[in-house]
Amino acid sequence: MSAFRVGIGYDIHRTAAGRRLRLAGVEIPDAPGLSGHSDADVVLHALGDALLGAAGLGDIGELFPDTDPAFAGADSRALVRDVLQRVQAAGLAVHNADVVIQAERPRLTPFKPAMRAALASLLEVGPHQVNIKAGTNEGLGAIGRGEAIACWAAVTLKQTHP
Ligand code: MG
Repeated sequence: MSAFRVGIGYDIHRTAAGRRLRLAGVEIPDAPGLSGHSDADVVLHALGDALLGAAGLGDIGELFPDTDPAFAGADSRALVRDVLQRVQAAGLAVHNADVVIQAERPRLTPFKPAMRAALASLLEVGPHQVNIKAGTNEGLGAIGRGEAIACWAAVTLKQTHP
């Protein structure tokens, strides 16, 4: 196995009134939430898939089926911790992670430092190893109409032992 491995992840969830919005494990107040079987944290789902992809371990749909009642309303931080344990068991550790959140609203800039700290803590790395980017979809499509929030994530993993 080579020293570095890269993975990507993508997820999208519909917005839903009456649900809380959680992105990267951070509660975003005064905004419509996202619909989903779990807490619908689209950032953590994309990140989980990027981690699994880099490690060659499949995807979160296989590991955490949304038909499983055990994951109803689940805190997606637990999902990422579970994935990280699998990554570590494979002799790999996170080198860095970068995410792009696509949301027409709310404006996420004020929450970036908290999201960065939350992801760094979850991934057991320093804040300088995590980057958060957030932007609108320029009014285009479902995301532009505020009907959904999407996230792309990229992760590199490094080998911890041969
Ligand atoms: Mg999802």
